[in-house]
Amino acid sequence: MSGWIEPAGLCRKDDGTPYSPTYGDVYHAIEGGPGQAREVFLAGNDLPSRWRGRDRFVILETGFGTGLNFLATATAWREDPRRSGRLHYLSLEKHPFPAADLAELHSAWPEFALLAAELRQRWPILLPGLHRLEFDSGRLVLTLVLGDATQLLRRLSARVDAFYLDGFAPDRNPEMWSPELCRALARLAAPGATLATWSVAAAVRQALARNGFVLEKRPGYGRKRERLIGRFAPHPKAAPPAPPPPPERHALVIGAGLAGCAAVERLAARGWNVELIDARPTPAGAASGNLAGLYLPLVSLDDNLAARLSRTAFMHARRRWIDLAARGHPARWRDCGVLQVARDAEHEARQRGLIESVPWPAEFIRFISADAARQYTGGHRPAHGGWLFPLAGWAHPPSLCAAHLAAAGERLRQHFGRRVTRLERSGGMWRAVDEVGQEIAAAAVAILAPGAETGNLNPCAGLPIQRVRGQVSLIDATALTGLELGLCREGYATPELDGLCCIGASYALDADPEPRPGDDAGNLARLERLLPGRVTSAQDSLRGARVSFRAVAPDRLPLVGALPDPLALPGWRNTRLAHLPRIEGLHGLMGYASRGLIWADLMAELLASRLEGDPLPLETDLVEALDPGRFALKRIRRGGL
Ligand code: SAM
Repeated sequence: MSGWIEPAGLCRKDDGTPYSPTYGDVYHAIEGGPGQAREVFLAGNDLPSRWRGRDRFVILETGFGTGLNFLATATAWREDPRRSGRLHYLSLEKHPFPAADLAELHSAWPEFALLAAELRQRWPILLPGLHRLEFDSGRLVLTLVLGDATQLLRRLSARVDAFYLDGFAPDRNPEMWSPELCRALARLAAPGATLATWSVAAAVRQALARNGFVLEKRPGYGRKRERLIGRFAPHPKAAPPAPPPPPERHALVIGAGLAGCAAVERLAARGWNVELIDARPTPAGAASGNLAGLYLPLVSLDDNLAARLSRTAFMHARRRWIDLAARGHPARWRDCGVLQVARDAEHEARQRGLIESVPWPAEFIRFISADAARQYTGGHRPAHGGWLFPLAGWAHPPSLCAAHLAAAGERLRQHFGRRVTRLERSGGMWRAVDEVGQEIAAAAVAILAPGAETGNLNPCAGLPIQRVRGQVSLIDATALTGLELGLCREGYATPELDGLCCIGASYALDADPEPRPGDDAGNLARLERLLPGRVTSAQDSLRGARVSFRAVAPDRLPLVGALPDPLALPGWRNTRLAHLPRIEGLHGLMGYASRGLIWADLMAELLASRLEGDPLPLETDLVEALDPGRFALKRIRRGGL
């Protein structure tokens, strides 16, 4: 698999300076790391002064290394009473340190001890892609971008105010200073962006100058004679377009399941007022109302789009749930581990092969045999071995909805028991209207998170979302005593919660809302295929069932973002997603299929970031894979609209 992460190993020079044997260079100036960070990178970008009075300030660093520049910057920002409303710090790193090495490195800087501990607490599993870590209730945001800088810079979406260029020396680490990399930086530069670096190498200066940076040398730090600062001043024809004006921070969110509740929290955290509307009397009344579901990522040998997306979403969701609890809004969930049991011997061999083919972090996924799995299943042997995801587990979706809404606090107005039958646009506002023509609420932005009720809302016409019936059966937990982890294959079983285990789920296209005995039998048969012979008096163990409807797109990925305009599409010929006509101010969070638990938080963060103009938490190819316009575009490309 390409782009896999090889962590750095901690080495030091004789004088104690951290050193990379791979690149033959030190991580910071021998004279002292914090001094270099402040003088070269902060002062070189005229910080703190430039972030003062700003709503948001965005810094991008090439080379996270020990995290020292981040610690120095974030500390200066925290200590500045006139700091920006938010600080986004994006940092690219191909060889991140494991948390234990970071702890040793950070012990050299007691002045940053508190923040360094917070950083290590949030330190992700070292997997490729973006990892968004929040501090200070989301006002300080670190987006770690793990993988090769040049490749990933091309896939970032951000408007950067200050660049810290901190690769190893250009002669030993040329790819961190290449013309391609400098071009990618220019693409991300906001008007007036600045840069700073300790390197004044001629090739670096040339590459930066060619891409629109006006450079100046300044006296260097420590033994370096000179350092470099720069300002982005491209030729007027190459200047980036001005950003759109920020929207009025007031939104309707229609649908109070996982998707809508997570969106409410993300918007409120950014200062939005939100009107949450749902036809049912309480949140989580539809598909998000099950007692428990399993959350786990997908993996694939070729690390395809779905695997990359689900991996980022899985890790993001866990971090958000931990953050919510830390802010006093705990939900019910447990990372008890989930075993994805192989279908048959051949599949088992393939699962084992995938684990052996790349150095997967064992805390993310490992293979265990059916015999080894007995320790988690009360001594019963699963049908086969499989993938164990140690940090996956079960969650109680209604408690997650409640935690998100509680965290939104006073910015939320709730309209339960109100069914939106029409959405109308007038005077730059969306109005949600009920069945008797009465306005429920109005706001400049509307976000549709209707789950499987997509078909009832007029702007969703034409979106290929299928409504798929699923019945979950509840069985007495004594029937599965000793089951400590979640099990899944084509069905699933949760460990005990409130004396019950959930087993599921059926998959049918009819609209019958009532539980059916045949579906319970199907769920028990799925359980039997996971743990043969485990549940002997199956029918006696049944304690209940619940039916809900999933919203499933043809590619089984969510639809997130501005909705295409069905009225403007006929005759449309432009085949670029960015140019597709959209309905102004109308956005979707849809098509979560059976994976709402992992999608909800990341998709809400993605949409809120887009609305605000924040750096996006996903690579652009993944964002495009989620675009609600992708199906219309496919039809246009085939000449079918
Ligand atoms: N800013 C860091 C700090 O505060 O500790 C020091 C960065 S160190 C001088 C350079 C970093 O660039 C190393 O951590 C190295 O692993 C990383 N690096 C080297 N080549 C890279 C590449 N192609 N893509 C991303 N990171 C790379």
